[in-house]
Amino acid sequence: MAYNVNDNIQQPVRDMVKEIGPDIQRIGYEWDRKPDAFCHDIFQILAGKGCVGFNMPKEYGGGGKSALEYATMIEEIAYWDAPSSLLAAVSQLAVDPVARHGNDDQKKAIIPKAAKGELIPAFALTEPNAGSDAANQQTTFTVDGDNFIVNGEKIFIMHGDVADVGVVFGKILEDGSRGKVSAVIVDLKQDGIKAETLKHKMGMKYATTGRISFKEVKVPKSNLLGEPGKGFKYAMMTLDGARIGIAAQATGICQRALDETIKYAKERIAFGSPIAKLQAIQWMIADMATKTEAARLMTYKAAELQDAGARFSLEAAQAKLFAAEAANFCVDRAMQIHSGYGYIGEFSPIEKLYRDQRVSEIYEGTSEIQRLVIAGNLLRG
Ligand SMILES: Cc1cc2nc3c(=O)[nH]c(=O)nc-3n(C[C@H](O)[C@H](O)[C@H](O)COP(=O)(O)OP(=O)(O)OC[C@H]3O[C@@H](n4cnc5c(N)ncnc54)[C@H](O)[C@@H]3O)c2cc1C
Repeated sequence: MAYNVNDNIQQPVRDMVKEIGPDIQRIGYEWDRKPDAFCHDIFQILAGKGCVGFNMPKEYGGGGKSALEYATMIEEIAYWDAPSSLLAAVSQLAVDPVARHGNDDQKKAIIPKAAKGELIPAFALTEPNAGSDAANQQTTFTVDGDNFIVNGEKIFIMHGDVADVGVVFGKILEDGSRGKVSAVIVDLKQDGIKAETLKHKMGMKYATTGRISFKEVKVPKSNLLGEPGKGFKYAMMTLDGARIGIAAQATGICQRALDETIKYAKERIAFGSPIAKLQAIQWMIADMATKTEAARLMTYKAAELQDAGARFSLEAAQAKLFAAEAANFCVDRAMQIHSGYGYIGEFSPIEKLYRDQRVSEIYEGTSEIQRLVIAGNLLRG
């Protein structure tokens, strides 16, 4: 049983996820063995339960839930099936800049449908030459009367292969000048756009990742999100919150690895007794449990700060860094303790967990970038 800092609001979320946990896990394990494709079945189960619109604004049809409840939901879904937690999270990541900076028309056009899972949005920041260095955007929005003409390429975009609409970052070109990064809402089902599924992803397979190319794509200027030149700031604001989600996802993975390992260590007999009796095994389990709990508490702390309206950028980066590395540690130790029965996927979930976990240290800012954010926050003051 996972620890709650606020039982009244967290336990109902855990109970709600438990109702769909076995189903998403079963479907997820089937889809993991197929060629990479977006799993609409799980996405619709999650949407039906309110998980996809969970923290979108209530006045536009979302659940209006707090950051702490959201973190609890993602942790709990990831416990059952990590890719399903991405299927739930990505729409909320993509809608976040619209909810924060969009005008009423933009919110009405996107949020109610996204909350119900009727429209799939994507957050399109990364480019082939703008990953960690996200400000180095090469995508251009050329002003042409009342329109922008969008040209460029986005890569590694969650759900980008199937998305209906994208919050796309790029630079406005006016009179030949290249301005600061701006954000534009783009209908992704129009001429000039090519969207592809990236193949052979290591894990998180059925929460797909795509490449989106834009060639002379016409977008009304009224689709500009917020103010011109503020796009990079908007992206970083969204990523601050989203990092708590990744920390929560990694915590769920840690807990699953721990629970599977404790169960297995009690059952597996070597040299005449359960391996759980061996101190070498006990120490690994103790370290796993300690890191899991620390990851959980750091995640909740960042979420509570966000809910209180306080600054939380430092704590979100710390939680994401620690939880992602803890998940790597826990899954690795789980693999070691399961040994052959961990490495071969037909015997236990550890092989899948191992693959699903690895990206936690890469997306929404690599662990190196989290360290830069943490040091930057500490040294600034
Ligand atoms: C499955 C998946 C889903 C993703 N989803 C999305 C999405 O929905 N939307 C989106 O916009 N992006 C998404 N991304 C992109 C992701 O955020 C980037 O992959 C990540 O930011 C790293 O960029 P990069 O891969 O280009 O690596 P690089 O930036 O090329 O980094 C390479 C290495 O150099 C290190 N490095 C770079 N700069 C520094 C520095 N200043 N100091 C120290 N080390 C440094 C990095 O830590 C890394 O180890 C996703 C990626 C993956 C793999």
